Amino acid sequence: MLSTDPTNAMTSDCLRAIDAIPKADLHLHQEAERCLDRIFSRRDGRPPYDWSAWRRQIIETVPAGQERLRLIGTVKPVPLADDDDDLFVARFAELLEFEAEAGAHYVEVRGDGRTIRKARFMELFRQAEQRAQEKYPQLRAEAIAIIMTTLPADEVAAIADECVRARGDGLAGVDFLYQPYLTDADWTPIHRLAERFAEVGLGVTAHAGEMSTANIAAAAQTPGLTRIGHGIHAASEPGLIDLLIDRGITLECALTCNAFLGATPSLEEHPLPQLIEAGVSVALATDNPIQVGTTIGREYLVAASLGLTIRQLHDIARNAIQASFTTPDRRAELLARLGP
Ligand SMILES: [Zn+2]
Repeated sequence: MLSTDPTNAMTSDCLRAIDAIPKADLHLHQEAERCLDRIFSRRDGRPPYDWSAWRRQIIETVPAGQERLRLIGTVKPVPLADDDDDLFVARFAELLEFEAEAGAHYVEVRGDGRTIRKARFMELFRQAEQRAQEKYPQLRAEAIAIIMTTLPADEVAAIADECVRARGDGLAGVDFLYQPYLTDADWTPIHRLAERFAEVGLGVTAHAGEMSTANIAAAAQTPGLTRIGHGIHAASEPGLIDLLIDRGITLECALTCNAFLGATPSLEEHPLPQLIEAGVSVALATDNPIQVGTTIGREYLVAASLGLTIRQLHDIARNAIQASFTTPDRRAELLARLGP
């Protein structure tokens, strides 16, 4: 973790300039139970689950890397109540408002197969977006489906069918999660599915290269794929850097999450500046902001603390919007907000 406040030693001009950047978060899991906990805690007049205590305990007792990664999403402070449409809308609105409050103009939320197969999913997601827009009119949001290829084959097929169908309702893209994640997996089934998704215009991204260089090359060769979730270990292999640049792939970098899980030895040693220096397109993201204790606004401050200039932070916001899976109209609208 970052040992000090990222805003230390930043001038007020610098903070203002970072605050003014219209930010986009391209890698955000739905944080379902965490959002419900925030809603219920307000309703019941109790404090929400103490994630900072949870993080301290993990840092003290769990070795960095794979073992911490496995703990993401295991604590569920309240039960999921997805059969209740009002709560379903409320928890997505909660997440979108959390993001918008921190300066997000654009957010892509990832839901698992069960979430996106809920009846009228996109309609309910749009209701949540509208609710968040009442408070934060600048916000635009899209939904992405996570395809977990480790699920039973018939379930993967049903989720894939639903993604293709939901493209017509406005589902923006898909994200692949698979096993093994830390060593090279067989990407043949993923490539086959991705071809089908790309054909109907769904954006394609995949988790890869978070803890090691494993799976980055196979991910980069996935049909229709334009982004990789993490991919930061490409920095250690010039061949992978070239591949990412050749293919025009944008990396979704989640600095705080990477540091918390131990994907890099420390935040100060995060390869973000090297990736930018090498010419790789990068975007900033939060991944699981409530659990790891960050916001998209804070990620920009952390990036600045790693030595990035305001110009580079602007470029990152532009990369994110350009690599987003939203509609051409929305993309143009968001790019216009960035200015020259
Ligand atoms: Zn992720």
